[in-house]
Amino acid sequence: MIKFGPSGSDEVFASSPQYKGTVDMPLYVKSLGLDCFEYSFGKGVRMSAETAVNIGSAFAKEGIEISVHAPYFINFANPDPAKIDNSFGYVVSSLEALKALGGNRCVFHPGSPLSRTREEAWVDLERNVARLAEILHEQGLDDMRVCPETMGKLNQMGTVEDIAKLCALDKVFTPCVDFGHVNAREQGSLKTADDFKRVIDTFAKYIEWERVSSMHVHFSKIEYTAKGEKCHLTFDDTVFGPEFEPLADVLAEYEMEPYIVSESAGTQGRDAVYMRDAYLKAVQNRLG
Ligand SMILES: [Zn+2]
Repeated sequence: MIKFGPSGSDEVFASSPQYKGTVDMPLYVKSLGLDCFEYSFGKGVRMSAETAVNIGSAFAKEGIEISVHAPYFINFANPDPAKIDNSFGYVVSSLEALKALGGNRCVFHPGSPLSRTREEAWVDLERNVARLAEILHEQGLDDMRVCPETMGKLNQMGTVEDIAKLCALDKVFTPCVDFGHVNAREQGSLKTADDFKRVIDTFAKYIEWERVSSMHVHFSKIEYTAKGEKCHLTFDDTVFGPEFEPLADVLAEYEMEPYIVSESAGTQGRDAVYMRDAYLKAVQNRLG
C-alpha cells in the first residue's frame, strides 16, 4: 500500500500544546489522515531502548508506520578505514533502534568524495556498501529495508545511477529517491511525467520491480544553485519545484506502492496531505 507522511516535527505539531513529544506524533499523523512518519537520527542515534519501545507502541496503537533517517555523518566514500567502521556502526545502531521502534525502513546518505575524484570515491563507496550488506546479514539486521538516498549537491555521491547501482549490490537495499534532490542536482530536470519516468525507469534497469515499486520517496521543493541543493522550501514555492502532480500521474500509471515522505521546511504535514490528495486525484483520473 502506498503511504504518505511527514518527516520530523512540523510547525503545527511543534506549536500545538496537546502534542508533547514524538510519542504523540502518531495521533497527529492520524488526525491528518496520513500513514507514516520519519524520525531523524541525523545528529546521532540517541534514544534509549525504553523510549524506543514506548514510541513504537504508540505508533503501533494508531497503525502509523515509522521509518528512521541514519546520522548525516555517514560517508562510505571516505578513504580512512576507521571512518568507514564508524559509518557501519551508525547504520547498525540506527537499525537496532528502528527494530525497537517497530519500523522497517532506514534511510542513509552514501557519502562524499571529499578531495578525491568521483571515480576514485566510487570504488571505495561500492566496496564499503557491499561490505555493509554482509555485516547486516551477519548481524541478522537484513529483515529491514536499508535505503541509500539520491543526494542534491554536486559534491556528494548519490546520483540516480549511483543509487541504482548500490541497490543492485544486495536485496537489503531499497532506493530512497529524493526527487527534490534529483531536480536540484540536475538544475530543474523534473518537469513532466516523462522526466519522472526517466528516474524510475533507471532503477528498473538495475533492480527487480518490487523494490522499485516499493521505493522510499523524499519529496520537497528545493532551492538550488549551480552547485545543486541550497535549501528546502514549502509547497508555496512556484520557482524551483519540482511539482508533485506529474509524479502522482506516474505513480498511478505504474501502480507503484512507495512510502512518500514530505521534507518541506515546516509544512511537512500539510504538504504530505497535499501529495496524498494529488495522488488520489491522479488515480481517479485514470479510472475516468
Ligand atoms: Zn536524507
